[in-house]
Amino acid sequence: MEYFETIIIGAGPCGLAAAVELERNDMDYLVLESHNIVNAIYNYPTHQTFFSSSEKIAIGDFPFITEDHKPKRNQALVYYREVVKHFDLNIRIFEKVTSGSRTDEGFIIETDKNNYSCRHLIVATGYYGQPNRLDVPGGDKSKVSHYFKEAHPYFNSQVLVVGGRNSSADAAIELEKAGARVTVIHRRGDYSKSIKPWVLPQLKSLVEHGRIRYEFNTELLEVKEDSAVIRTGDEVKEIKNDFVLAMIGYRPDYDFLRSFGITLTAYEDGYAPSHDPATMETNIENLYLAGVVAAGDDANTIFIENGRFHGKKIIRHIMQKSAYGNQH
Ligand code: FAD
Ligand code: NAP
Repeated sequence: MEYFETIIIGAGPCGLAAAVELERNDMDYLVLESHNIVNAIYNYPTHQTFFSSSEKIAIGDFPFITEDHKPKRNQALVYYREVVKHFDLNIRIFEKVTSGSRTDEGFIIETDKNNYSCRHLIVATGYYGQPNRLDVPGGDKSKVSHYFKEAHPYFNSQVLVVGGRNSSADAAIELEKAGARVTVIHRRGDYSKSIKPWVLPQLKSLVEHGRIRYEFNTELLEVKEDSAVIRTGDEVKEIKNDFVLAMIGYRPDYDFLRSFGITLTAYEDGYAPSHDPATMETNIENLYLAGVVAAGDDANTIFIENGRFHGKKIIRHIMQKSAYGNQH
Protein backbone atom coordinates (compact mmCIF):
# COMPACT_ATOMS: atom_id res chain seq x y z
CA MET A 1 0.00 0.00 0.00
CA GLU A 2 1.45 3.38 -1.00
CA TYR A 3 1.57 6.17 1.59
CA PHE A 4 1.17 9.91 0.92
CA GLU A 5 1.07 12.63 3.55
CA THR A 6 -2.03 14.12 1.87
CA ILE A 7 -4.44 12.70 -0.70
CA ILE A 8 -6.83 14.89 -2.67
CA ILE A 9 -9.84 13.19 -4.24
CA GLY A 10 -10.89 15.03 -7.39
CA ALA A 11 -8.94 17.15 -9.91
CA GLY A 12 -11.55 19.85 -10.52
CA PRO A 13 -10.43 23.49 -10.29
CA CYS A 14 -10.66 23.43 -6.47
CA GLY A 15 -8.80 20.12 -6.02
CA LEU A 16 -6.11 21.42 -8.39
CA ALA A 17 -5.87 24.71 -6.46
CA ALA A 18 -5.27 22.72 -3.26
CA ALA A 19 -2.62 20.62 -5.06
CA VAL A 20 -0.80 23.78 -6.19
CA GLU A 21 -0.59 24.93 -2.54
CA LEU A 22 0.84 21.57 -1.45
CA GLU A 23 3.31 21.58 -4.33
CA ARG A 24 4.42 25.13 -3.50
CA ASN A 25 5.07 24.13 0.09
CA ASP A 26 7.07 21.03 -0.91
CA MET A 27 4.55 18.78 0.78
CA ASP A 28 4.00 15.14 -0.10
CA TYR A 29 0.65 14.57 -1.85
CA LEU A 30 -1.27 12.74 -4.55
CA VAL A 31 -4.42 13.73 -6.46
CA LEU A 32 -6.75 10.90 -7.53
CA GLU A 33 -9.15 11.68 -10.37
CA SER A 34 -11.80 9.29 -11.70
CA HIS A 35 -11.79 10.77 -15.22
CA ASN A 36 -9.37 13.34 -16.61
CA ILE A 37 -8.71 16.70 -14.97
CA VAL A 38 -11.59 19.23 -14.68
CA ASN A 39 -14.11 16.64 -15.80
CA ALA A 40 -17.12 18.77 -14.81
CA ILE A 41 -15.98 21.58 -17.11
CA TYR A 42 -15.33 19.04 -19.86
CA ASN A 43 -18.99 17.97 -19.46
CA TYR A 44 -20.42 21.52 -19.57
CA PRO A 45 -22.48 22.45 -22.64
CA THR A 46 -20.00 22.53 -25.55
CA HIS A 47 -20.40 26.26 -26.21
CA GLN A 48 -20.63 27.37 -22.57
CA THR A 49 -19.32 30.81 -21.68
CA PHE A 50 -18.40 31.24 -18.01
CA PHE A 51 -20.21 33.90 -16.02
CA SER A 52 -16.89 34.66 -14.31
CA SER A 53 -14.11 36.63 -15.89
CA SER A 54 -10.95 34.62 -16.52
CA GLU A 55 -8.92 36.07 -13.63
CA LYS A 56 -11.67 35.00 -11.19
CA ILE A 57 -11.34 31.34 -12.08
CA ALA A 58 -7.55 31.37 -12.30
CA ILE A 59 -5.77 29.24 -9.68
CA GLY A 60 -2.34 29.29 -8.03
CA ASP A 61 -1.70 32.87 -9.26
CA PHE A 62 -1.08 31.38 -12.71
CA PRO A 63 -2.45 33.95 -15.20
CA PHE A 64 -5.49 33.05 -17.30
CA ILE A 65 -5.54 35.56 -20.14
CA THR A 66 -8.32 35.61 -22.70
CA GLU A 67 -9.14 38.24 -25.27
CA ASP A 68 -12.78 38.33 -24.21
CA HIS A 69 -13.70 39.24 -20.64
CA LYS A 70 -15.41 35.89 -19.96
CA PRO A 71 -13.71 32.68 -21.08
CA LYS A 72 -15.34 29.81 -22.93
CA ARG A 73 -15.33 26.18 -21.81
CA ASN A 74 -12.61 25.21 -24.26
CA GLN A 75 -10.28 28.01 -23.14
CA ALA A 76 -10.71 26.90 -19.53
CA LEU A 77 -9.82 23.31 -20.47
CA VAL A 78 -6.59 24.58 -22.08
CA TYR A 79 -5.85 26.79 -19.06
CA TYR A 80 -6.23 24.05 -16.42
CA ARG A 81 -4.11 21.65 -18.50
CA GLU A 82 -1.40 24.33 -18.56
CA VAL A 83 -1.65 24.75 -14.77
CA VAL A 84 -1.07 21.02 -14.27
CA LYS A 85 1.93 21.08 -16.63
CA HIS A 86 3.40 24.27 -15.16
CA PHE A 87 3.30 23.08 -11.53
CA ASP A 88 3.97 19.44 -12.53
CA LEU A 89 1.15 18.33 -10.22
CA ASN A 90 1.16 14.75 -8.99
CA ILE A 91 -2.13 13.40 -10.37
CA ARG A 92 -3.28 9.90 -11.22
CA ILE A 93 -6.08 10.12 -13.77
CA PHE A 94 -8.78 7.56 -14.52
CA GLU A 95 -8.49 6.22 -11.00
CA LYS A 96 -11.76 6.39 -9.12
CA VAL A 97 -11.88 6.36 -5.34
CA THR A 98 -14.42 3.71 -4.45
CA SER A 99 -14.24 3.71 -0.66
CA GLY A 100 -12.30 4.89 2.33
CA SER A 101 -11.99 4.30 6.03
CA ARG A 102 -10.36 5.85 9.06
CA THR A 103 -7.44 4.38 10.97
CA ASP A 104 -5.61 5.60 14.08
CA GLU A 105 -2.98 7.27 11.86
CA GLY A 106 -5.23 8.66 9.14
CA PHE A 107 -7.15 7.15 6.26
CA ILE A 108 -7.13 4.14 3.95
CA ILE A 109 -8.28 4.92 0.41
CA GLU A 110 -9.37 2.26 -2.05
CA THR A 111 -9.56 3.00 -5.74
CA ASP A 112 -10.53 0.82 -8.71
CA LYS A 113 -6.76 0.27 -9.20
CA ASN A 114 -4.86 0.54 -5.89
CA ASN A 115 -4.97 1.02 -2.13
CA TYR A 116 -3.38 4.01 -0.41
CA SER A 117 -2.96 5.37 3.07
CA CYS A 118 -2.61 9.02 4.06
CA ARG A 119 -2.55 11.27 7.09
CA HIS A 120 -4.67 14.11 5.64
CA LEU A 121 -7.50 13.70 3.21
CA ILE A 122 -9.05 16.44 1.06
CA VAL A 123 -12.34 15.59 -0.63
CA ALA A 124 -12.87 17.79 -3.70
CA THR A 125 -15.36 15.67 -5.62
CA GLY A 126 -17.82 18.44 -6.62
CA TYR A 127 -21.47 17.66 -7.41
CA TYR A 128 -21.74 17.50 -11.19
CA GLY A 129 -21.68 13.68 -11.29
CA GLN A 130 -24.93 13.49 -9.27
CA PRO A 131 -27.81 15.35 -10.94
CA ASN A 132 -31.00 15.74 -8.93
CA ARG A 133 -33.56 13.23 -10.18
CA LEU A 134 -37.13 13.84 -11.33
CA ASP A 135 -39.24 12.06 -8.78
CA VAL A 136 -42.22 11.46 -11.12
CA PRO A 137 -43.51 8.48 -13.11
CA GLY A 138 -41.47 8.23 -16.33
CA GLY A 139 -38.73 10.44 -14.84
CA ASP A 140 -36.10 7.86 -15.76
CA LYS A 141 -37.16 7.40 -19.41
CA SER A 142 -34.37 7.61 -22.01
CA LYS A 143 -35.86 10.83 -23.43
CA VAL A 144 -35.07 12.54 -20.09
CA SER A 145 -31.59 14.04 -19.83
CA HIS A 146 -29.89 15.81 -16.91
CA TYR A 147 -27.12 17.32 -19.02
CA PHE A 148 -27.37 19.63 -22.02
CA LYS A 149 -24.47 19.49 -24.47
CA GLU A 150 -25.64 20.99 -27.77
CA ALA A 151 -28.94 22.01 -29.35
CA HIS A 152 -28.63 20.34 -32.74
CA PRO A 153 -30.19 16.95 -31.78
CA TYR A 154 -33.34 18.83 -30.71
CA PHE A 155 -33.95 20.62 -34.05
CA ASN A 156 -37.65 20.46 -35.01
CA SER A 157 -38.52 18.71 -31.73
CA GLN A 158 -40.72 19.56 -28.77
CA VAL A 159 -38.49 20.03 -25.75
CA LEU A 160 -39.62 20.49 -22.17
CA VAL A 161 -37.03 22.19 -19.97
CA VAL A 162 -37.59 21.71 -16.24
CA GLY A 163 -36.01 24.18 -13.78
CA GLY A 164 -35.73 27.94 -13.63
CA ARG A 165 -32.15 29.05 -13.13
CA ASN A 166 -29.02 29.38 -15.26
CA SER A 167 -28.74 25.93 -16.87
CA SER A 168 -32.41 26.11 -17.82
CA ALA A 169 -32.14 29.65 -19.22
CA ASP A 170 -28.97 28.91 -21.23
CA ALA A 171 -30.39 25.68 -22.65
CA ALA A 172 -33.75 27.25 -23.55
CA ILE A 173 -32.08 30.12 -25.44
CA GLU A 174 -29.71 27.81 -27.34
CA LEU A 175 -32.52 25.34 -28.15
CA GLU A 176 -34.75 28.07 -29.53
CA LYS A 177 -31.90 29.29 -31.74
CA ALA A 178 -31.50 25.79 -33.18
CA GLY A 179 -35.17 25.45 -34.10
CA ALA A 180 -36.51 23.41 -31.18
CA ARG A 181 -40.01 24.19 -29.87
CA VAL A 182 -39.28 24.96 -26.23
CA THR A 183 -41.48 24.98 -23.14
CA VAL A 184 -39.86 25.82 -19.80
CA ILE A 185 -41.62 24.95 -16.55
CA HIS A 186 -40.54 26.66 -13.35
CA ARG A 187 -42.10 25.88 -9.98
CA ARG A 188 -41.97 29.50 -8.76
CA GLY A 189 -44.10 32.52 -9.70
CA ASP A 190 -41.42 34.67 -11.34
CA TYR A 191 -38.05 34.47 -13.09
CA SER A 192 -35.32 33.40 -10.70
CA LYS A 193 -33.08 36.16 -9.35
CA SER A 194 -30.16 33.77 -9.91
CA ILE A 195 -30.39 34.09 -13.69
CA LYS A 196 -27.44 36.16 -14.83
CA PRO A 197 -28.47 39.79 -15.57
CA TRP A 198 -27.10 39.64 -19.12
CA VAL A 199 -29.03 36.41 -19.87
CA LEU A 200 -32.42 37.38 -18.42
CA PRO A 201 -33.36 40.13 -20.95
CA GLN A 202 -32.68 37.73 -23.83
CA LEU A 203 -34.82 35.03 -22.23
CA LYS A 204 -37.64 37.46 -21.42
CA SER A 205 -37.64 38.81 -24.96
CA LEU A 206 -37.95 35.31 -26.45
CA VAL A 207 -40.83 34.58 -24.07
CA GLU A 208 -42.58 37.89 -24.83
CA HIS A 209 -42.27 37.24 -28.57
CA GLY A 210 -43.76 33.75 -28.19
CA ARG A 211 -40.50 32.01 -29.23
CA ILE A 212 -40.24 30.20 -25.88
CA ARG A 213 -43.21 29.13 -23.75
CA TYR A 214 -42.50 29.82 -20.09
CA GLU A 215 -44.90 28.37 -17.52
CA PHE A 216 -44.60 29.69 -13.95
CA ASN A 217 -45.94 27.94 -10.84
CA THR A 218 -45.84 24.76 -12.82
CA GLU A 219 -44.71 21.27 -11.92
CA LEU A 220 -44.09 18.11 -13.88
CA LEU A 221 -46.41 15.25 -12.97
CA GLU A 222 -45.47 12.54 -15.45
CA VAL A 223 -43.27 11.85 -18.47
CA LYS A 224 -44.95 9.71 -21.12
CA GLU A 225 -43.61 8.31 -24.40
CA ASP A 226 -44.63 11.29 -26.57
CA SER A 227 -46.09 13.72 -24.03
CA ALA A 228 -45.63 15.18 -20.57
CA VAL A 229 -48.24 15.92 -17.93
CA ILE A 230 -47.84 19.23 -16.11
CA ARG A 231 -49.86 21.10 -13.48
CA THR A 232 -50.25 24.87 -13.10
CA GLY A 233 -52.32 25.65 -10.01
CA ASP A 234 -55.41 23.44 -10.33
CA GLU A 235 -55.05 22.97 -14.08
CA VAL A 236 -53.53 19.69 -15.28
CA LYS A 237 -52.65 19.38 -18.95
CA GLU A 238 -50.84 16.99 -21.24
CA ILE A 239 -48.47 18.56 -23.76
CA LYS A 240 -46.78 16.95 -26.77
CA ASN A 241 -43.17 16.24 -26.01
CA ASP A 242 -40.14 14.52 -27.57
CA PHE A 243 -37.44 15.30 -25.00
CA VAL A 244 -37.22 16.44 -21.38
CA LEU A 245 -34.19 18.37 -20.16
CA ALA A 246 -34.17 18.23 -16.38
CA MET A 247 -32.03 21.28 -15.52
CA ILE A 248 -32.78 20.89 -11.83
CA GLY A 249 -29.33 21.08 -10.31
CA TYR A 250 -26.84 18.74 -8.71
CA ARG A 251 -25.84 17.56 -5.24
CA PRO A 252 -22.73 15.98 -3.70
CA ASP A 253 -22.51 12.22 -3.30
CA TYR A 254 -23.69 12.10 0.31
CA ASP A 255 -23.24 8.32 0.64
CA PHE A 256 -19.59 8.75 -0.33
CA LEU A 257 -19.12 11.51 2.28
CA ARG A 258 -20.97 9.56 4.97
CA SER A 259 -18.77 6.52 4.32
CA PHE A 260 -15.85 8.55 5.76
CA GLY A 261 -17.92 9.50 8.80
CA ILE A 262 -18.74 13.03 7.64
CA THR A 263 -22.06 14.13 9.09
CA LEU A 264 -24.60 16.41 7.39
CA THR A 265 -25.81 19.66 8.92
CA ALA A 266 -29.37 20.78 8.19
CA TYR A 267 -30.06 24.38 7.13
CA GLU A 268 -33.26 26.03 5.92
CA ASP A 269 -33.07 24.72 2.32
CA GLY A 270 -31.46 21.34 2.83
CA TYR A 271 -28.20 19.80 3.99
CA ALA A 272 -24.49 20.46 3.76
CA PRO A 273 -21.55 18.35 4.93
CA SER A 274 -20.47 19.51 8.39
CA HIS A 275 -17.28 21.57 8.29
CA ASP A 276 -15.63 24.65 9.72
CA PRO A 277 -15.61 27.27 6.95
CA ALA A 278 -12.48 28.88 8.45
CA THR A 279 -10.35 25.75 7.94
CA MET A 280 -12.59 23.53 5.75
CA GLU A 281 -11.98 20.69 8.25
CA THR A 282 -15.00 18.40 8.64
CA ASN A 283 -16.26 16.81 11.84
CA ILE A 284 -13.51 14.21 11.22
CA GLU A 285 -10.03 15.41 12.21
CA ASN A 286 -7.62 15.79 9.25
CA LEU A 287 -10.44 15.31 6.73
CA TYR A 288 -11.12 18.43 4.69
CA LEU A 289 -13.52 19.58 1.97
CA ALA A 290 -12.44 21.75 -0.97
CA GLY A 291 -14.73 23.31 -3.55
CA VAL A 292 -18.40 22.99 -4.24
CA VAL A 293 -18.79 19.67 -2.40
CA ALA A 294 -18.87 21.79 0.78
CA ALA A 295 -22.01 23.63 -0.40
CA GLY A 296 -24.28 20.60 -0.08
CA ASP A 297 -27.75 21.22 -1.48
CA ASP A 298 -27.15 24.89 -2.22
CA ALA A 299 -25.09 24.95 -5.41
CA ASN A 300 -25.33 28.72 -5.60
CA THR A 301 -23.01 29.55 -2.69
CA ILE A 302 -19.68 28.02 -3.74
CA PHE A 303 -18.21 28.40 -7.22
CA ILE A 304 -14.72 28.22 -8.66
CA GLU A 305 -14.48 31.93 -7.79
CA ASN A 306 -14.45 31.27 -4.04
CA GLY A 307 -13.80 27.49 -3.83
CA ARG A 308 -10.35 28.05 -5.39
CA PHE A 309 -9.25 29.58 -2.06
CA HIS A 310 -10.20 26.55 0.06
CA GLY A 311 -6.83 24.89 -0.64
CA LYS A 312 -4.95 27.81 0.96
CA LYS A 313 -7.05 27.60 4.14
CA ILE A 314 -6.60 23.83 4.36
CA ILE A 315 -2.85 23.82 3.83
CA ARG A 316 -2.42 26.67 6.33
CA HIS A 317 -4.35 24.61 8.89
CA ILE A 318 -2.34 21.46 8.17
CA MET A 319 0.93 23.41 8.53
CA GLN A 320 -0.21 25.09 11.76
CA LYS A 321 -1.14 21.72 13.22
CA SER A 322 2.17 20.13 12.30
CA ALA A 323 4.13 23.14 13.65
CA TYR A 324 2.16 22.84 16.91
CA GLY A 325 2.75 19.07 16.93
CA ASN A 326 6.53 19.55 16.50
CA GLN A 327 6.68 21.89 19.50
CA HIS A 328 5.00 19.32 21.79
P1 FAD B 1 -15.64 19.77 -9.83
O1 FAD B 1 -15.23 20.72 -10.87
O2 FAD B 1 -16.97 19.14 -9.94
O3 FAD B 1 -14.51 18.64 -9.78
C1 FAD B 1 -14.69 17.43 -9.06
C2 FAD B 1 -13.76 16.39 -9.66
O4 FAD B 1 -13.78 15.23 -8.82
C3 FAD B 1 -14.21 15.94 -11.05
O5 FAD B 1 -13.13 16.05 -11.96
C4 FAD B 1 -14.65 14.49 -10.83
O6 FAD B 1 -14.42 13.67 -11.96
C5 FAD B 1 -13.79 14.07 -9.63
N1 FAD B 1 -14.36 12.98 -8.84
C6 FAD B 1 -15.65 12.85 -8.39
N2 FAD B 1 -15.79 11.71 -7.68
C7 FAD B 1 -14.57 11.11 -7.68
C8 FAD B 1 -14.09 9.88 -7.11
N3 FAD B 1 -14.89 9.06 -6.40
N4 FAD B 1 -12.79 9.54 -7.29
C9 FAD B 1 -11.95 10.38 -7.98
N5 FAD B 1 -12.37 11.53 -8.56
C10 FAD B 1 -13.65 11.89 -8.39
N6 FAD B 1 -18.32 28.60 -11.38
C11 FAD B 1 -17.67 29.79 -11.45
O7 FAD B 1 -16.97 30.19 -10.50
N7 FAD B 1 -17.78 30.58 -12.57
C12 FAD B 1 -18.49 30.21 -13.65
O8 FAD B 1 -18.58 30.97 -14.61
C13 FAD B 1 -19.17 28.95 -13.63
N8 FAD B 1 -19.87 28.51 -14.70
C14 FAD B 1 -20.51 27.31 -14.64
C15 FAD B 1 -21.22 26.84 -15.76
C16 FAD B 1 -21.91 25.64 -15.70
C17 FAD B 1 -22.67 25.14 -16.89
C18 FAD B 1 -21.88 24.86 -14.52
C19 FAD B 1 -22.61 23.54 -14.44
C20 FAD B 1 -21.17 25.29 -13.42
C21 FAD B 1 -20.49 26.52 -13.46
N9 FAD B 1 -19.75 26.99 -12.37
C22 FAD B 1 -19.07 28.18 -12.44
C23 FAD B 1 -19.66 26.18 -11.16
C24 FAD B 1 -18.35 25.37 -11.22
O9 FAD B 1 -18.36 24.50 -12.32
C25 FAD B 1 -18.17 24.54 -9.98
O10 FAD B 1 -18.29 25.37 -8.87
C26 FAD B 1 -16.76 23.92 -10.01
O11 FAD B 1 -16.68 22.94 -11.02
C27 FAD B 1 -16.41 23.37 -8.68
O12 FAD B 1 -15.11 22.86 -8.73
P2 FAD B 1 -14.71 21.63 -7.80
O13 FAD B 1 -13.25 21.42 -8.03
O14 FAD B 1 -15.22 21.84 -6.45
O15 FAD B 1 -15.57 20.40 -8.38
P1 NAP C 1 -29.56 25.24 -9.84
O1 NAP C 1 -28.96 26.59 -9.76
O2 NAP C 1 -29.45 24.34 -8.67
O3 NAP C 1 -31.10 25.43 -10.24
C1 NAP C 1 -31.96 24.33 -10.29
C2 NAP C 1 -33.34 24.76 -10.73
O4 NAP C 1 -34.17 23.60 -10.78
C3 NAP C 1 -34.02 25.76 -9.78
O5 NAP C 1 -34.83 26.65 -10.50
C4 NAP C 1 -34.88 24.83 -8.89
O6 NAP C 1 -36.05 25.45 -8.42
C5 NAP C 1 -35.28 23.76 -9.89
N1 NAP C 1 -35.54 22.45 -9.28
C6 NAP C 1 -34.77 21.75 -8.40
N2 NAP C 1 -35.33 20.56 -8.12
C7 NAP C 1 -36.48 20.50 -8.84
C8 NAP C 1 -37.50 19.53 -8.98
N3 NAP C 1 -37.44 18.36 -8.33
N4 NAP C 1 -38.55 19.80 -9.80
C9 NAP C 1 -38.61 20.98 -10.46
N5 NAP C 1 -37.67 21.95 -10.39
C10 NAP C 1 -36.61 21.70 -9.58
O7 NAP C 1 -28.94 24.42 -11.08
P2 NAP C 1 -28.29 24.96 -12.45
O8 NAP C 1 -29.10 25.99 -13.08
O9 NAP C 1 -27.94 23.72 -13.20
O10 NAP C 1 -26.92 25.62 -11.95
C11 NAP C 1 -25.94 24.81 -11.28
C12 NAP C 1 -24.65 25.60 -11.07
O11 NAP C 1 -24.05 25.88 -12.34
C13 NAP C 1 -24.86 26.96 -10.42
O12 NAP C 1 -23.77 27.23 -9.61
C14 NAP C 1 -24.87 27.93 -11.58
O13 NAP C 1 -24.46 29.23 -11.24
C15 NAP C 1 -23.89 27.27 -12.53
N6 NAP C 1 -24.17 27.63 -13.95
C16 NAP C 1 -23.46 28.65 -14.50
C17 NAP C 1 -23.68 29.00 -15.84
C18 NAP C 1 -22.84 30.06 -16.50
O14 NAP C 1 -21.75 30.32 -16.07
N7 NAP C 1 -23.28 30.71 -17.56
C19 NAP C 1 -24.65 28.34 -16.58
C20 NAP C 1 -25.36 27.31 -15.98
C21 NAP C 1 -25.12 26.96 -14.65
P3 NAP C 1 -36.02 26.69 -7.40
O15 NAP C 1 -35.66 27.88 -8.24
O16 NAP C 1 -37.40 26.70 -6.89
O17 NAP C 1 -34.97 26.35 -6.39
